[in-house]
Amino acid sequence: MELYEIYKKDDSNQGLKISFEVFPPKDGDISSLFEELRILKKYNPVLVSLTYGAGANSGKFKIEDMKSLQDLELNLMPHFTCIRASKKEIDNHIRLIENLGIENILALRGDIPKGLDLSELEFKYASDLVQYIESKSTLAIGVAGYPEGHIECPDIETDIKNLKIKTDKGACAIFTQLFFDNEKFYRFCEKVNSAGIDLPIIPGIMPIINLAQIQKMTTLAKITVPKDLKEKLEKFPNNTKEIGLDFGIKQCQNLIENGVQHMHFFTLNKSEQTAKILENIE
Ligand code: FAD
Repeated sequence: MELYEIYKKDDSNQGLKISFEVFPPKDGDISSLFEELRILKKYNPVLVSLTYGAGANSGKFKIEDMKSLQDLELNLMPHFTCIRASKKEIDNHIRLIENLGIENILALRGDIPKGLDLSELEFKYASDLVQYIESKSTLAIGVAGYPEGHIECPDIETDIKNLKIKTDKGACAIFTQLFFDNEKFYRFCEKVNSAGIDLPIIPGIMPIINLAQIQKMTTLAKITVPKDLKEKLEKFPNNTKEIGLDFGIKQCQNLIENGVQHMHFFTLNKSEQTAKILENIE
């Protein structure tokens, strides 16, 4: 099902729409991921997104892996980053995923490797990729949004102006960076709407599993960890999962109470913490 259809406004099915993000297992064996997703399937995800060469997990899903995951009858949304891609590679990728019957793609620029000069690139920003995919395929296109602003951008207003460039090129949903402070998300939604962007904004939720993971994420990107959460995590390092679960449930519950109808979970390829949060929200 396409993003337009999944997140359409006048949907009579007003229940919470859940989606999951997974990355390619480092050892290349997707059987463990298959099992985690089999567990998460119980929550009827509207889609499962597949990262593309992201950071430390710099692998990519093979087309055979996507085919296997389709055996679980999941609506897959592969990510694609254009930072060093040529038109030929993009054409090839689009054709392969369309041949699998996949209908959606998350179009990203990707992080700039050290020393790479943007001006030399064919695709400098995600907006270039959105425009290209839109002209070459029938895929429905999602893009990334940053409730606290993208790390390279001097301020959130400029970042939202840039977001508008890519949504105007043909994106139909915005999937956000993770955040722990819901107020930042609510302000972001207001600013995005004021900028004239009328698209679903799907909040990115990162279930907290370990402290090192949070410290890494928050140094790589602009993500605020609320003071009391930070203090608790640091004070009770052996209770990270419990503290994370309690926080995750409250965070999602607060989003629901504020009218949020969809959530995208960064599962880190583990079903347990995400499933426990989902069991405890209503
Ligand atoms: P862009 O939208 O191009 O923005 C990048 C920067 O350029 C921003 O600061 C923006 O303000 C600025 N900008 C944009 N357009 C212009 C313009 N016309 N003029 C001047 N400045 C401009 N990375 C991966 O490698 N693989 C993944 O699978 C992956 N998945 C992700 C999923 C989500 C939900 C999110 C939020 C991020 C993901 N990322 C992934 C990270 C992403 O690739 C990085 O954050 C990257 O640095 C920016 O990508 P983007 O698509 O947001 O870029």
